[in-house]
Amino acid sequence: MAEIELAARFIEVPITGITGSNGKSTVTSMTGEVLRATGLEVAVCGNIGRPLSAAVSDQLRGKASYQAYVVELSSFQTEAIDNFHLDYVALLNITPDHLDRHGSLDAYAEAKLRILKNCTADDWVVYNIEDEGLVSRMPEIPARRAPFAQRPLPGTHPAAWVDDGYVWWSAETGSPQTILGVDEMAVLGPHNHANACAAAALGLLAGSTPEQVATGLRRYRPLDHRMEKCGEVRGVTCVNDSKATNIDSTLAALSGFQRGVWLILGGRDKGADFSVLEPHIEERVVKILLIGEATPVIDAALRGSAPVERCKTMDRAVQRALSSAAAGDVLLLSPACTSFDQYSNFEERGDHFKDLVSKLGAEVDETLAGDLPLTSPEEE
Ligand code: ADP
Repeated sequence: MAEIELAARFIEVPITGITGSNGKSTVTSMTGEVLRATGLEVAVCGNIGRPLSAAVSDQLRGKASYQAYVVELSSFQTEAIDNFHLDYVALLNITPDHLDRHGSLDAYAEAKLRILKNCTADDWVVYNIEDEGLVSRMPEIPARRAPFAQRPLPGTHPAAWVDDGYVWWSAETGSPQTILGVDEMAVLGPHNHANACAAAALGLLAGSTPEQVATGLRRYRPLDHRMEKCGEVRGVTCVNDSKATNIDSTLAALSGFQRGVWLILGGRDKGADFSVLEPHIEERVVKILLIGEATPVIDAALRGSAPVERCKTMDRAVQRALSSAAAGDVLLLSPACTSFDQYSNFEERGDHFKDLVSKLGAEVDETLAGDLPLTSPEEE
């Protein structure tokens, strides 16, 4: 029996389950913040790090009295669903990932969509209406649906969307209303505004007021290793997006920048097609720095879209970028691969990147200081 199946049998309060190829942890933690701002004691758990069974265990031992569970679910968890029933589901996107494990995109999508297996007419499914791979595969289900999008969805009830710099909500009846401005949130990039729509919809359908949702989203702080600004060296902004372990998350990261990106790609390949990155790289990337096992595959797919340098290790990639990038450029670790060829996990990879940025950044500053006169001519 799957761990989530066993744990769920002991839960008597509403459960929200969140799945998708990208954005799960972000939307799970955002939804937790929204429900907390609503005054509930919330267990934020599942694939995000703390098993559902650990949260349930705390509840059963009287260490917590959760009024809601918000559970991040990976395809490895949803594929084993049998009787697990969720009151609220969010389906964020289905793009190629974990093909090494599931074999094909269809098999991967099928594993994810098992999250809907036990839905009833009382439940809500919040879904990304702009994701073709998801919408085309959604099965007929008795549950009620609420779409979200990065563009207006006029006449759709209920629905959440982004328009003109605001998150909007259209309830089951009545006119649409704004929830908050996207600039009021600490998260970066259009994909994160869509994530906020999903979290807002989950909160509002569960009974939060628009004000409580806005408070939760304003309080939300981005998670480590996801588009995390981690330093500036001689005007080069360094961004740690080590959690980008597939192509689509790297695409989302790149879409947040106009040009001048030094992009570190590589690690362990999961069988995806890197050539879809080409047009985004041509527009924005100064140089691709390759690390890890996937080097030959990525080199073959992307050579021609931008200059490529085979760096092997993170040390060399960071060193090459920081010694050559110009002020105003961006050094972005958004590797589109898993870390398992050189690290234990994406956190270790991201931490290594951050250490190198601060260490090499300090060295670059020292070298520069050595070249500069320590006292001005006037003082001499
Ligand atoms: P997951 O838990 O599904 O892996 P995370 O929230 O941890 O998702 O984010 C993983 C990566 O995907 C990060 O690089 C992040 O910047 C990117 N990302 C987050 N939300 C989205 C989205 N809606 N679409 C595409 N990429 C996203």
